[in-house]
Amino acid sequence: MDEFYGKLDTILESGLQFIDNEVTRGRGVSLTLNAPASGAVIGSFDEASSDQVEAAVRAAQRAFTAWRKTTPRQRSDLLLRLADNLESASGLFSQLESLNCGKPLLSVIADEVPACADVLRFFAGACRTQQAPLSGEYLSSHTSMIRREPIGVVASIAPWNYPLMMAIWKIAPAIAAGNTVVLKPSEMTPLTTLALAALIADIFPPGVINIVTGRGRTVGAALVAHPLVRMVSLTGDVGTGAKILEAASSGIKKTHLELGGKAPVIVFADAEIDHLVACIHDFSYYNAGQDCTAPCRLYVHGSIYDEVVERISAAADRVVVGGPLAPESKMGPLISEAQRDRVEAFVDRAVATGHIEVTAGGRRLDLPGYFYAPTVLAGALQADEIVQREVFGPVVSVTRFDEEDEVVAWANDSDYGLASSIWTASVARAMRVSGDLQYGCTWVNTHFNLISEMPHGGMKVSGYGKDLSVYALEDYSCVRHVMIAH
Ligand code: NAD
Repeated sequence: MDEFYGKLDTILESGLQFIDNEVTRGRGVSLTLNAPASGAVIGSFDEASSDQVEAAVRAAQRAFTAWRKTTPRQRSDLLLRLADNLESASGLFSQLESLNCGKPLLSVIADEVPACADVLRFFAGACRTQQAPLSGEYLSSHTSMIRREPIGVVASIAPWNYPLMMAIWKIAPAIAAGNTVVLKPSEMTPLTTLALAALIADIFPPGVINIVTGRGRTVGAALVAHPLVRMVSLTGDVGTGAKILEAASSGIKKTHLELGGKAPVIVFADAEIDHLVACIHDFSYYNAGQDCTAPCRLYVHGSIYDEVVERISAAADRVVVGGPLAPESKMGPLISEAQRDRVEAFVDRAVATGHIEVTAGGRRLDLPGYFYAPTVLAGALQADEIVQREVFGPVVSVTRFDEEDEVVAWANDSDYGLASSIWTASVARAMRVSGDLQYGCTWVNTHFNLISEMPHGGMKVSGYGKDLSVYALEDYSCVRHVMIAH
């Protein structure tokens, strides 16, 4: 580990702003970084000043003039090189992510870095295969054609739950579509994004991808408000989405918002319970439940309710919780003390209702750092806060239902509309219910799997705009009409 901490020190010492392919020290206030698995301070950095945000946006604007004229093949080649280099440096990226977020190291190596490389490769290919409608004479003696064009400078604002993956999800489609980017990672988790800058500097022309770090209300707000920014992409909280919409409105900027979720999991009487239990074990507590698609709001048919509660509670107890470097560890800490307090307060309020029972977890763990036990709360009712609000922690609620119509109405009775799942052996019921759910994604007899080829994004307060897939390329570009008289 000494070698790793040496590399980390070098990154922290060189500064955390990346503008025009140069790494510089911030000129704003100093912020500290904590390791969630121990609570220890692992470093500090100075956030970007308003002058540095200005410089980053101007660098992106300058670079746009030439970048927008590159061919899809040229952009593709560079994205493929970034994917290769990221994979080659997987060890360092995984260690940084694991240290900064408390994630089990092996899961970052096995799941997150390969997924990032795949997203880069997907967009490298997809930008070369885009299709458009026929050009032709829709007015006699005039030929019309459609051009799909980049938008300009995109301000991309990322959260702390998957810092590297969110950076890649934002950079890859924006760059592939011919835009330039100024990216701001979360002030709590900038390390892998900066490590990415070290790779970008060797591959992309100056100014195409810039990174500024710091808090949302200072650096993020200055970036969103900058008049040269033409599009703002946020993955974050609903409240942050609302603030960004307001800030973007005066400049009529395009927005792309991936906000929270509260995924319903509807378990019918004919569900394959073994698979469901494995899914809850593997995915409800993945990333300590800090995932906007996590299967966290179970509705279980009355005929199998007791069995499901007993079995998923036993599964939650089996999740191995531990430090990021323990090879057997499947779940790490929450990101911060504040996040653990928040999760704990949700559970305490649920228990205070008197009708909700803790059947697994429900307590902090006696470990250094911000650990909370994998938790199951049974007997929740539709109006309860634990059913309605996003916890963003390792907590699953279970609600009993009897009728299909009732459970579809309950599943849709949510401000959120990101992800959902249905568990049934009936194809007819799966077709019917998936058609009735108001969610950006519905899985049948599975939950949580995202793939680069398919869109990810929400409805209702979960936001709009798609990540992944060719739909993201559409979101990060605009359609123009060119008409030629002859
Ligand atoms: P957050 O909204 O607090 O922060 C997200 C980012 O926005 C950070 O970089 C932050 O600095 C920045 N920010 C905050 N205020 C800002 C402002 N006024 N102007 C500009 N930038 C600002 O969210 P978080 O706590 O980092 O992440 C957790 C949230 O993200 C959860 O609610 C979760 O559901 C959501 N999330 C959604 C998805 C999705 O795909 N829909 C994925 C991951 C996380």
